[in-house]
Amino acid sequence: MIKDRLENLYKELSEDINLVAVSKTKTVEDIMNAYNSGQRLFGENRVQELTEKYDKLPKDIKWNMIGHLQSNKVKYIASFVDLIHSLDSVKLASEINKQGEKNNRVINCLIQIKISKDETKYGVSFEDFDQFYKHINSLKYINVVGLMGMASLTNNEDVIKDEFKSISLLYNELKLVDKKIAHLSIGMSNDYKLAINEGGNMIRIGSRIFGER
Ligand SMILES: *Cc1c(COP(=O)(O)O)cnc(C)c1O
Repeated sequence: MIKDRLENLYKELSEDINLVAVSKTKTVEDIMNAYNSGQRLFGENRVQELTEKYDKLPKDIKWNMIGHLQSNKVKYIASFVDLIHSLDSVKLASEINKQGEKNNRVINCLIQIKISKDETKYGVSFEDFDQFYKHINSLKYINVVGLMGMASLTNNEDVIKDEFKSISLLYNELKLVDKKIAHLSIGMSNDYKLAINEGGNMIRIGSRIFGER
């Protein structure tokens, strides 16, 4: 099942799209099914679950932290995390930088942008972005490689499209001035086609691969 769903997705996606298989709440066996189909990029949203799975699973998996990250938990993932999608505050940035230095590795991050008006969504506002970005760029152990956004929880595709458009615009501006910028992480199981249409090149897909949670 997982293998078939994954293969169908691969067929659909062009090669420049990075597929992050979101394995939160799913078992080590489920992840190994995807792994054996060739998938190496996996996303988790809880630190404890991420570290447990890291311990148990093959070491060539690239683990992405996609969920809101508390500063006091960065230390548990700093030695191995491949990409943090959810850099959204100065406090978190300071801690990632500190833990990067301790582990002697530069940690790749995406700046999460608040593209939705939903109160539950995290992220840096468009207004605050320039200042935030300047600050982050001064931190030696953080490498910003792109932006991440989560659309509103709505069935209204026009709203989702507008939100993706807004972050895509910022991403394209940023790419012009910063050569490290390569990833626009937008789109999940229900809106990844819209995301790709708007220029997203990294999608985070859970239920469409692993089934409902
Ligand atoms: C759970 C989650 C996803 C995947 O959601 P699906 O709808 O199952 O594809 C993507 N991004 C984040 C940040 C998530 O927490």
